[in-house]
Amino acid sequence: MKKEENLMEEIVSLAKRKGFIFPACEIYGGLANSYSYGPYGVELKNNIKKLWWDTFVKQRSDIIGMDGPILLNTKLWEASGHTEGFNDAMVDCKKCKKRFRADHVVLELTGKDMEGDLDGMTKVLQKGLKCPECGESDWTEVKNMSQMFKTEMNSVSGPIYLRPETAGAIFVDFKNILDSTRVKIPFGIAQIGKAFRNEIVARNFIFRIREFEQMEIEYFIDPEAEWEPLFDDWLDKQEEFAMMLGAKKEDLRRYQHPKEKLSHYSKKTVDVEYNFPFGFGELFGLAHRGNFDLTQHAKSSGQKLEYSDAVNNKKYVPHVLEPTAGLDRLILTSLCSAYAVEKLENGERVVMKFPKTIAPIKIAVFPLMKNKPDLVKKAKEVFDILKMKYMCEFDDNGNVGKRYRRQDEIGTPYCITVDFDTIEKDNTVTVRDRDTMAQVRVKTEELKNYFIENL
Ligand code: ATP
Repeated sequence: MKKEENLMEEIVSLAKRKGFIFPACEIYGGLANSYSYGPYGVELKNNIKKLWWDTFVKQRSDIIGMDGPILLNTKLWEASGHTEGFNDAMVDCKKCKKRFRADHVVLELTGKDMEGDLDGMTKVLQKGLKCPECGESDWTEVKNMSQMFKTEMNSVSGPIYLRPETAGAIFVDFKNILDSTRVKIPFGIAQIGKAFRNEIVARNFIFRIREFEQMEIEYFIDPEAEWEPLFDDWLDKQEEFAMMLGAKKEDLRRYQHPKEKLSHYSKKTVDVEYNFPFGFGELFGLAHRGNFDLTQHAKSSGQKLEYSDAVNNKKYVPHVLEPTAGLDRLILTSLCSAYAVEKLENGERVVMKFPKTIAPIKIAVFPLMKNKPDLVKKAKEVFDILKMKYMCEFDDNGNVGKRYRRQDEIGTPYCITVDFDTIEKDNTVTVRDRDTMAQVRVKTEELKNYFIENL
């Protein structure tokens, strides 16, 4: 990937200019780094979700889906340890009043990973480390801050939380899923949905936001079965998925959490990271969580959360592997991987080289001239046929060259132009390929087959 300093700014600017991602509520001055997905952004997002669901649910016989609520019984978060322990360390600069995530600022300034050691971080900072914002050294003590968003619900006493992860909803529905389906271990339950974290600092565009989407799987296994090969296979699958979105293998790496940083129940945790223009950042997490979650919920609810293994004639609380992905981070990966600036004979073009499966618009249809009713009519006919199967766009603004540039910037793999030959001669149209810019003539009645082959 190209690493120019302003690459990230170029991508953010294109995302806004072209209707992928806007700052949310911009007319009111925005809201703390939150974003809306615009017309092309929502298509890209839906395509990535569908690709994930097709890959991990539809095309597998061992994984089923579900969709739980955002607001869940508070007992769930007490049992999972979130109410008490889902914290981040924060520190304020007393001079410029800027707030930081303490472990991040210490790591940035010293290269030391001191996550979890509040006193240690306070000492290191107060020894004279300078605020990256104002250059002074006047720090508060490092304190824990809950990442949970609190709200309330009519008829329920006490606080309710916006879920900080989707996984919780899966564990509490484990029993209902076992009772209502015929799943056999090993099996997974998948869910896509919003999660909310009151991050101390939201930054790097949609990489770290407070309202985001996760795509998570809880993959239940026999506690006595060999788990390492499955774990490695999930890591490969996560990387393969990133590559399906356009990431290059050399831009992916794995980070294994050191033993001393693992939660007491986790046997192994590995993140898959992507080389963003601002550096490597986590895309996926994969954790072996033992039977911690089911055991905690069984204890707290008084319900048995066991699996009856008819094949081996035994009963047990399954162990779980948890492959999890951040949808917004995958969208950012696809934008960064697709972005290219190419030199042409007559200038340059910006082109988003999305894999065809996730490109927001698959085909754009143009009449060569907008003031020729016969051309427009024929182009509309072509558009009306193709739109039934593909996300298409009709464009008659400006000249064809400009329309190509516009479609290149939103990553449309094919543009069709209806011209005079179409209506006067042979009923063929030109089909122009985004990446090669080559044009071929295809008979209109063969267009459907052409795209079945090429898309
Ligand atoms: P980080 O270390 O970056 O804060 P995490 O390890 O806390 O992430 P997990 O709890 O493993 O994240 O969440 C699973 C996935 O959800 C992450 O791999 C990431 O892709 C995504 N994710 C987590 N926090 C955010 C956020 N604030 N904004 C966008 N995506 C996020």
